[in-house]
Amino acid sequence: PVVTRFAPSPTGFLHIGGARTALFNWLFARRHGGKFLLRIEDTDRARSTQAAIDAILDGMRWLGLDWDGETVFQAERAARHAEVAHQLLESGQAYKCYASAEELAALREEQRASGKPLRYDGRWRDRDPGDAPAGAPFVVRLKAPREGSMTIDDHVQGSVTVQNSELDDFVLLRSDGSPTYMLAVVVDDHDMGVTHVVRGDDHLNNAFRQIPIMKAMGWDIPEYAHVPLIHGPDGAKMSKRHGALGVDAYRDEMGILPEALCNYLLRLGWGHGDEEIVSRERATELFDLSGVGRSPARFDLKKLQNLNGHYIREADDVRLTELVAPRMGFVMDDEQRDLMTRAMPVLKTRAANLDEIADGAQFLFRTRPLDMDEAAAKLLEGDAPALLGKVHQALDALGNWDSQSLEAAVRGVADGAGAKLGMVAQPLRAALVGRKTSPGIFDVLLLLGREESLGRIADQAA
Ligand code: GLU
Repeated sequence: PVVTRFAPSPTGFLHIGGARTALFNWLFARRHGGKFLLRIEDTDRARSTQAAIDAILDGMRWLGLDWDGETVFQAERAARHAEVAHQLLESGQAYKCYASAEELAALREEQRASGKPLRYDGRWRDRDPGDAPAGAPFVVRLKAPREGSMTIDDHVQGSVTVQNSELDDFVLLRSDGSPTYMLAVVVDDHDMGVTHVVRGDDHLNNAFRQIPIMKAMGWDIPEYAHVPLIHGPDGAKMSKRHGALGVDAYRDEMGILPEALCNYLLRLGWGHGDEEIVSRERATELFDLSGVGRSPARFDLKKLQNLNGHYIREADDVRLTELVAPRMGFVMDDEQRDLMTRAMPVLKTRAANLDEIADGAQFLFRTRPLDMDEAAAKLLEGDAPALLGKVHQALDALGNWDSQSLEAAVRGVADGAGAKLGMVAQPLRAALVGRKTSPGIFDVLLLLGREESLGRIADQAA
């Protein structure tokens, strides 16, 4: 059975690259009826924060990436990591290195001066530990293979080979007995039963260090898929300047729906033909690692907004009301929420994000007399008040307040004045919403209702 995991380091927010990695792991597990696990890699105590952990968990929940079982905290497992290092010591696959910090600094200096790669030279690999002064501090290093080469058949990167002579005997346990990141990842992946490691390709090099630890322990090697990072629209590595924000910023500041962000992140680096709209359900049926491209994907805000518009139009109107209400700038009562829900089919037709809906909805709740913006005020100059007086009269006389009757009445006024419909509709819109733009004028009249509409028109009529 497939077991994947997402293993973020809680040193910052859940950024979109991390979210995409989580999504790929989640989809792969769900597609294969397997498990998706979450491990917080909080071993860097100085840089890990509770706020970052909360932001990650919150972001995962918002995106609907539910994980199986308990959240694993890596720092709590240090004793287990050390236990494995000691097993490797006992089996002779690891050794104690007593080289002092000064000694290693001198070695690096020498290597730098002679243009050699900076690498531990294995000076304690075959040395008798009895040579060390009693009680001297030591680190535990892996006795890494020196001959031959290692090949990873990566699901995304293809076949990648490294000469073992390029790897050194890296540290497993520090002199204070704490495990290194390299050791912790391997032990945790094994203990959690991880079968597929899907992560950023900045970790590909680490795999060549992690595999020898697994081999030394006689453990199964997982399958690997190292996914290219997300780049900005200009092709450079994604940074803040490109909108490399936490997923919370997409939700809070940009008014993006989670299903839109997921669809976008999925398509960013994964393809199934040229389908752009791929629902969660469909993705769970289709997702495969072989569909992940090998070159870095470029972030494209416009595409994300287009997808967001699509998902807004598909979204349930009551749910949208709940999401838009906190963006209105005042506390909405139940009656106002009901009105917004009724208006939603009209409000959402052109919106690319939740703030645009909020903006478009303001007119429903303005109080009389309306504040006019500059463009609206202009539309109300000249003979507009007189025209509006006629509109008021015609609408006031209507028996039915429905779109057909409304349209016939407004057309009647335009015809009577020898004007085009727009000549009447523009000042009418200004009177009703206080702006130059709004949804269709007859929708506005219907949503505001007879009393409010007539009142707003009267306020501007002569
Ligand atoms: N903690 C690592 C990171 O946040 C991921 C390690 C892994 O997936 O193996 O980049």
